[in-house]
Amino acid sequence: NSMSLELWEEVSIMDEKNIPIRTYQVCNVLEPNQNNWLRTDWIHRSGAQRVYVEVKFTLRDCNSLPGVTGTCKETFNLYYHESNEDRESYIKESSFIKVDTVAADESFTQVDVGDRIMKLNTEVRDVKVTTRKGFYLAFQDVGACIALVSVRVFYKTCPLTIRNLATFPDTVTGADTSSLVEVRGSCVNQSEEKEEPKMYCGADGEWLVPIGGCLCSPGYEDKGGVCKACSVGFYKAKSSDTGCSKCPPHSHSLRDGATVCDCHSGYFHADSDPPSMACTQPPSAPQQLISVVNETSVVLEWAPPRRLGGRSDTSYSLECLICQAGSHNRGLCLPCSSDVLFSPSQTGLKTTRVVVSELRAHTHYTFIVHAHNGVSRASGAGATQSVSVTVTTNQAAPSPVSFIQATDVTRHSLSLSWQQPDRPNGVILEYEVKFYEKDQKERSYRIMRTFSRSVDVTGLNPLTVYVFHARARTAAGYGEFSGPFEFSTNSDPFPLIGDGVNSAFLLLSVSGVGILLLISAAVFIISRRYTHKQTQAHRHIYKRVKIYVDPFTYEDPDQAIHEFAKEIDVSSIHIERVIGMGEFGEVCSGRLRVQGKREIYVAIKSLKAGYSDKQRRDFLSEASIMGQFDHPNIIRLEGVVTRCKPLMIVTEYMENGSLDAFLRKHDGQFTVIQLVGMLRGIASGMKYLSDMSYVHRDLAARNILVNSNLVCKVSDFGLSRVLEDDPEAAYTTRIPIRWTAPEAITYRKFTTASDVWSYGIVMWEVVSYGERPYWDMNNQDVIKAIEEGYRLPAPMDCPVVLHQLMLDCWERERAERPTFSQILNMLDKLIRNPGTLPFILLPFLMYIYAWSVCQWLQSIGLERYRDTLAAAGYTSLDSLLTLTHQEMDRLGIITPTHQDILIASVQQEMLSQMQHIQHTMVPV
Ligand code: AMP
Repeated sequence: NSMSLELWEEVSIMDEKNIPIRTYQVCNVLEPNQNNWLRTDWIHRSGAQRVYVEVKFTLRDCNSLPGVTGTCKETFNLYYHESNEDRESYIKESSFIKVDTVAADESFTQVDVGDRIMKLNTEVRDVKVTTRKGFYLAFQDVGACIALVSVRVFYKTCPLTIRNLATFPDTVTGADTSSLVEVRGSCVNQSEEKEEPKMYCGADGEWLVPIGGCLCSPGYEDKGGVCKACSVGFYKAKSSDTGCSKCPPHSHSLRDGATVCDCHSGYFHADSDPPSMACTQPPSAPQQLISVVNETSVVLEWAPPRRLGGRSDTSYSLECLICQAGSHNRGLCLPCSSDVLFSPSQTGLKTTRVVVSELRAHTHYTFIVHAHNGVSRASGAGATQSVSVTVTTNQAAPSPVSFIQATDVTRHSLSLSWQQPDRPNGVILEYEVKFYEKDQKERSYRIMRTFSRSVDVTGLNPLTVYVFHARARTAAGYGEFSGPFEFSTNSDPFPLIGDGVNSAFLLLSVSGVGILLLISAAVFIISRRYTHKQTQAHRHIYKRVKIYVDPFTYEDPDQAIHEFAKEIDVSSIHIERVIGMGEFGEVCSGRLRVQGKREIYVAIKSLKAGYSDKQRRDFLSEASIMGQFDHPNIIRLEGVVTRCKPLMIVTEYMENGSLDAFLRKHDGQFTVIQLVGMLRGIASGMKYLSDMSYVHRDLAARNILVNSNLVCKVSDFGLSRVLEDDPEAAYTTRIPIRWTAPEAITYRKFTTASDVWSYGIVMWEVVSYGERPYWDMNNQDVIKAIEEGYRLPAPMDCPVVLHQLMLDCWERERAERPTFSQILNMLDKLIRNPGTLPFILLPFLMYIYAWSVCQWLQSIGLERYRDTLAAAGYTSLDSLLTLTHQEMDRLGIITPTHQDILIASVQQEMLSQMQHIQHTMVPV
């Protein structure tokens, strides 16, 4: 590229391989106030939003240049200027924006480049270019001896990829180092969307968080991200993530991409059969049909077919024919009349026995039993196999007379007539009529017999209701009586034509149905659990570990606060400045001087005026909780002011504020061991809380405070637990989704194990220097991604072991997550084992652990406790990290200042040793 140059010169030199290359050089080290610019041509940004500039250069060490003191520099500045114009001839210096000052990692002392192998520096800087079509780069020399060998400008993309059968195009990364570009994938050929495929393109050109995806269409299967047609002999019926299946028995597919298999000839598939079912055949004929005739009924029984055709849904149907005597020719047969009864039924029979009744007497019947199954219809009509039997019914009595009518009704007589029974079953020899007065019931009745189908009944009482029954007789005997027919005589001596007909209907009496109303009495058993028990009852002591007492179990919040927190006289507090904003009001820093103690720095939270009872209670609850804890990694409560307004909570002062902001401010400035040191502190505090059976619910870097010694302490003990007790709370919106375990999000199962999940997120926040977990994904996508098994990737430069520990904390099954005690052991092991953390130097570790407790006590002037501590098992510095005020009281170390010094300086000692590692690791 041609560059606009002033004092820069274009020079040819030899590279490492002795190949001549062109460079731009400047070396005005003797004159002061150099300002030499070198500018590139216009560079089209081609859609990129962040470009990377890789500069290769050599730089001469000022010490090697005699007599240049004061004027010689060892850096140059990189600038850029965004522009739509590709031929700007003159650009003002002030239009350029500085990217960075670039220094060499390696400088060389000899510049005899003609025959010497020179050392090249490579530096990469990145810059956001979003406002114009392109940009210019410029290099400003301010008095160095420098040769620019090459400038490479590039941008990053997430390369075209296929994930879950969706294609994601080559995508240019976002403008900021933390921005994610959301990309929608499109389903590969022969596939269908299962759930909208989405992925994010990260700033490093890595694809992140695949969600959703596609499924191969019917007839196709997933072969390494491509949907391939099922081969001959295979099929796939649905779009699914399964592969093609072999055709089921008695079927085949002749072409690629089959969605179903065709049946071999003679085999069939029912519509309701699943595609995976074998092709089958209709059944063979039923076997061994036998009949037993009983007067005009026939019992038919048979055995199932010999071949069921590979199915289990055999059913039977019966055909009934009346045939002429001795005829087996179906042509001489007629279908039976519709009043023949089949029990249980005529078609769709599952049993192999049927009773046919209401047949005619002395009649030849042929019964044909057909066998069917699910493929009988598919195999073609008339193809069912059957077996038949012919029977002759015996003589039988006539069926009942079905209808009687009365005419010519008078005061003393009426005429009755009726129809022949439906099935006379022979020649009717006679009818018999039985009648009685309705009031008399059947106590006394009269009988009349006749050859015809009518009779005149006389000698009746006027205006009386009579009941009539009729029956027929053949050679086989009497049939059944008909049902009752009621008629009334009237008051007229002459018949009223038609009247009798009207009254000739059966009067049906409807018997009342008693309705039983069952009233089920719901019994509510109201069990009240009395949680407000005597406070003493909560004080369990297990293995010398106190159990945390929920201040909300106290009826009176003031009782809780005075049980767990010291009342401070407001005159001993000296407020200095506002340092933050809390849920209930300002947070200030200041000093606290309590009689007999040295003055200490404190943080003071106050409750803003105009609070409700509930707010006061919630505000003080944090102190009631905090006051129960005594651990070097838990924020320490100094006391409360409740006797005058405003109410105040006074805690130890944490100079570096909250951990997330602190890390963002010091991006990239700590060694891995320092970060692990912070994590160890948090884990230790959390172990203490879990031993106390306290579940934090809102563990996040923003709720960890950092003091000037980089000691991390868990804080924020109020709000989160209150939320949960309010079932009306729109809790999903207030739950910190990104930090919370899935079971706590979905059914509020908050446990120490869900705190462990959050701890894993805090680990990720710490190692990535306060990056936002799941970047700018929305909550819904985060929940979905976690559900689909996605987990945050290792942050940059994160040792594998640490990321593995995070993944362990994010086990879906909460029982499989490590405990805080295991996490603590693991981190301690990490600190001790130089192989696992790449940056720990063995000699230095030896230095840490050689530094005995005894020497350290000497250095802080407290060697008088040497024996006490040794006897209690505190033989190493790290074991002293667990020392608490309570424990020291127990050991007899009772002077408060000594306790404070011991706790503060052991933490300081460990950390300064860790920091020392950083210094011994200055680049070599
Ligand atoms: P909080 O109400 O506890 O979330 O506090 C609000 C902000 O005040 C925090 O984010 C911190 O920046 C600051 N803060 C709270 N407590 C302390 C403390 N003990 N030392 C220093 N800063 C604190």
